Amino acid sequence: MFHFYKIPILLKIFFSDLVWNIPAKEKTIYLTFDDGPIPHLTEYVLGQLDEYDAKATFFCVGDNIKKHPKICEEIVKRGHTLGNHTFNHLKGWSTSNDDYKQNIDLCQTQIAQFQQQAKPLFRPPHGQITFNQIQHLKEKYQIIMWDVLAYDFDSSHSAHKSLQKSMKFTESGSVVVFHDNYKAEEKLKYMLPRYLKYFAEKGFCFKNIVLR
Ligand SMILES: [Zn+2]
Repeated sequence: MFHFYKIPILLKIFFSDLVWNIPAKEKTIYLTFDDGPIPHLTEYVLGQLDEYDAKATFFCVGDNIKKHPKICEEIVKRGHTLGNHTFNHLKGWSTSNDDYKQNIDLCQTQIAQFQQQAKPLFRPPHGQITFNQIQHLKEKYQIIMWDVLAYDFDSSHSAHKSLQKSMKFTESGSVVVFHDNYKAEEKLKYMLPRYLKYFAEKGFCFKNIVLR
């Protein structure tokens, strides 16, 4: 299978309502972590980020927030942003518009207990979202995709290879996806410290996505 570490420019133009990268004046990387919060691994990520004074955006599954509110609290306390990743990690292409929106709103009621957000951030699980769903959601949510996918969840590529590719394709303004889920744990723990060190030494800073 072909792996798109870097999102093709045509896809970005085609889906221009979505955010793929965020132009920045200084050397900036927008790290994002999908699927948490979960015990130990999310806390591990928070510890790594602290070492570099890095801020990030956590696209949380509502059900996980409900199960692990303390970790969610910790994410906010350390200055990171919470994003919405549906309540049940739904696949947009096989979910009706109404069910999809309802599940996202349900996740947002969880998030709202920890962080006030005028226009919340939403990222579709599996990157699956239809044109119709975008129209349905874009008034209320900022839909955040990504520019670089780290493939930390994919065991068909070695951690070393995924790290090399992710580093190669990251540029200033990139929105980069990692995963704080158990499937990605082993690769994430190899990749994240090395990735942070590499770009910190090159003078990059890591910022959370600012809410509008
Ligand atoms: Zn996900």
